[in-house]
Amino acid sequence: MKSAKAKTVRKPVIKKGSQTNLKDPVGVYCRVRPLSFPDQECCVEVINSTTLQLHTPEGYRLNRNGDYKETQYSFKRVFGTHTTQKELFDVVANPLVDDLIHGKNGLLFTYGVTGSGKTYTMTGSPGSGGLLPRCLNMIFNSIGSFQAKRYVFKSNDRNSMEIQCEVDALLERQKREALPIPKTPSSKRQADPEFADMINVQEFCKAEEVDEDSVYGVFVSYIEIYNNYIYDLLEEVQFDPIKPKLPQSKTLREDKNHNMYVAGCTEVEVKSTEEAFEVFWRGQKKRRIANTHLNRESSRSHSVFSIKLVQAPLDADGDNVLQEKEQITISQLSLVDLAGSERTNRTKAEGNRLREAGNINQSLMTLRTCMEVLRENQTYGTNKMVPYRDSKLTHLFKNYFDGEGKVRMIVCVNPKAEDYEESLQVMRFAEVTQEVEVARPVDKVICGLTPGRRYRNLPRGGPVGDEPLVPEVILQSFPPLPPCKLLDINDEETLPKLADTLEKRHHLRQLMTEDLNKKCLAFKALLKEFDNSLSNKENYVQEKLNEKEKLISGQKLEIERLEKKNKTLEYKIEILEKTTTIYEEDKRNLQQELESQTQKLQRQFSDKRRLEARLQGMVTETSMKWQKECERRVAATQLEMQNKLWVKDEKLKQLKAIVTEPKPEKPERPSRERDREKIIPRSVSPSPLPLSSNNIAQISNGQQLMSQPQLHRRSNSCSSISVASCISEWEQKLSPFSTPVNVTSLARHRQQEPGQSKTCIVSDRRRGMCWTEGREMVPTFSSEIGVEEDHCRRGDVYKTRGGGQSVQFTDIETLKQELPTGSRKRRSSTLAPAQPDGTESEWTDVETRCSVAVEMRAGSQLGPGYQHHAQPKRKKP
Ligand code: ADP
Ligand code: MG
Repeated sequence: MKSAKAKTVRKPVIKKGSQTNLKDPVGVYCRVRPLSFPDQECCVEVINSTTLQLHTPEGYRLNRNGDYKETQYSFKRVFGTHTTQKELFDVVANPLVDDLIHGKNGLLFTYGVTGSGKTYTMTGSPGSGGLLPRCLNMIFNSIGSFQAKRYVFKSNDRNSMEIQCEVDALLERQKREALPIPKTPSSKRQADPEFADMINVQEFCKAEEVDEDSVYGVFVSYIEIYNNYIYDLLEEVQFDPIKPKLPQSKTLREDKNHNMYVAGCTEVEVKSTEEAFEVFWRGQKKRRIANTHLNRESSRSHSVFSIKLVQAPLDADGDNVLQEKEQITISQLSLVDLAGSERTNRTKAEGNRLREAGNINQSLMTLRTCMEVLRENQTYGTNKMVPYRDSKLTHLFKNYFDGEGKVRMIVCVNPKAEDYEESLQVMRFAEVTQEVEVARPVDKVICGLTPGRRYRNLPRGGPVGDEPLVPEVILQSFPPLPPCKLLDINDEETLPKLADTLEKRHHLRQLMTEDLNKKCLAFKALLKEFDNSLSNKENYVQEKLNEKEKLISGQKLEIERLEKKNKTLEYKIEILEKTTTIYEEDKRNLQQELESQTQKLQRQFSDKRRLEARLQGMVTETSMKWQKECERRVAATQLEMQNKLWVKDEKLKQLKAIVTEPKPEKPERPSRERDREKIIPRSVSPSPLPLSSNNIAQISNGQQLMSQPQLHRRSNSCSSISVASCISEWEQKLSPFSTPVNVTSLARHRQQEPGQSKTCIVSDRRRGMCWTEGREMVPTFSSEIGVEEDHCRRGDVYKTRGGGQSVQFTDIETLKQELPTGSRKRRSSTLAPAQPDGTESEWTDVETRCSVAVEMRAGSQLGPGYQHHAQPKRKKP
């Protein structure tokens, strides 16, 4: 027995560059069935052909305290209550059947609560066949005349097909028909008017572009999944009325192409719509019986009716099926009527039935989960494992969702208000499912043989047309044979006529043979010519081919070169990009540095400006100071010169007096006492200003000083007389130049070596004003209460040429006396010791004070009341 195994192409080999990336979303349609009674409350409204709206029914709102809501749901298409089975089929199932005929798989399932019209949609009702009979009808309408003989295709238990030659198929047919069990489908069909009505589909539907050079075989299987067990509804079991056998559940297996299938499931080859539907009906009946026997609720089981279409191409002659298993294509359309999606409590099931119902619901739950995971994976690019294996239902259809074919779902809705909550759940599931995408199945590989093989050897009247064949035309051109019956022995006409006709025919034949030979020769010549031209063409084509090949190789080289160049350029670009980044970094750094430097420069510039301004100010100040200084010096010099002049004059006068006048008498003590009396109030005065401006300057001359030997230790020089008087006079002379000078201390000059200048100290008790170097009046005002200041000017005394003396002030000393108690008197502990009775020495004269000043100048220690501020206020130019 010659047989070949067919390769199942349910999982087609996906070639690179094919439509692998194309994906289609799961097509979700919605069908709203009419209300059972017109006065029922309705919660569903069809807005348009793609949108449906759910209203919260009044009863639900009252019971659940729920708000009134109107939620819209969109579908690929919404079919309203008046939609006919034909309309639904044309939109939903027709493309699936078309795909099936073109070698692609499909899955169609109905989903909804019990009573929503799933079975009505899938199977239909008498007089109004559902999608299933219509699919079968379309399949057989399309492939009817191209069907293979029964048993040419043989299903095996590995989910693939075997193919056998027609003789083997015939033998098997005879063998099977001899068996007593199978009844002719037609006889059964006639006995069941219910389904006869269903398949009496008036509307003719046929797939376009059916491959006529193939032969087809249709196999159907029908299973039920109940309580997560799979039952074969087409299994032939001998019914034992005494001990009815429980149906055996089936297992799922994976074939070599990783397609899931029900192991050992009966696949019945069917040759017509009626036969196929009869098989379905058989299964349906069995299902009903089992449900009754096992006390099951039919709405809780899923039923799967599968139509498997096997196609194999005809051989080159178009006579027989090509015995090449690689050329066999199997496609499958699964029609699934799912169990009611309602939750368990709604059916008020109990005990076993509740558990079973739970399991069935579990299948639907798993289906929902699978959809959700698939959607999540596709939307967010995650790679979560889809829990197909959690239920038989999802496991069986795993391949469809992994891209093995189109998936379509019809969501059935009963618009009655009682179903509102369940309908909501259904809508949500539908929404999720709509977003799942499955890979678009690849197109079936077309047979490599030339098309049109089927009609090649058909006799006259075949599909080629009614035109006569060539031998018949030739025969018609032959002279007809005369009647060749010899009725009379003397008949001499018939035979000669026959001979004549035969001769003519022979002649004609010869002519025709000659013609044929000629034509043959001509044809051979033509053939030769054609061959030649062909070879020429071949050569030409070869040449061209070579040229093109050269061109291609050249282009390949060029491409290689360009690719290399491209690589190099890419590399360069990369390097340049890197360099650019580095440079940009550098640029940024430099810019930052530049900014900081600019800021620094600006700071420096502003500093410079400030400094300039300051310097400018200082310059102006200094120049002004110098200008003043100059003026002052000029004035001082003028004064000095005047002084000198005056001194000279005075000396001259004195000399004159010395020369001309007798020596004056020594001053008497009482006058001195008077002088002292004048001084005493000053010395006992607690005021920091003991000498008022009214006090007349007491200038003791040299004689006076000399009469007090214990007090002026170093005043025995005669020159001091003249100096002191000089000074007093000079000071008095100065009075018109400045404010009156109150000289309280007497300058003492030291005995010096001849030729050396003598130091003269003049103390100015006029507050706030002093002379420094005899050049300018410097205000040294002290505002502190209880502070008394003496300013002593130091000067050098020179002997003038004229015999006189000149004083040149060189320094100023400030004697400050702090009187913390306010009653302390100025005294010098060393120079004016206190009286034995504790009182201060009454005698305080100018001379003493002057000596104090001199001693201070010499750096001697003063009494506690004195502070020595010997700060020479010389101004350096
Ligand atoms: P399900 O299979 O979802 O439980 P059925 O298909 O058995 O529901 O439908 C229940 C009843 O409703 C049946 O009597 C059926 O004839 C009726 N029915 C359902 N859908 C329609 C429809 N679109 N038009 C008319 N009758 C329908
Ligand atoms: Mg049903």
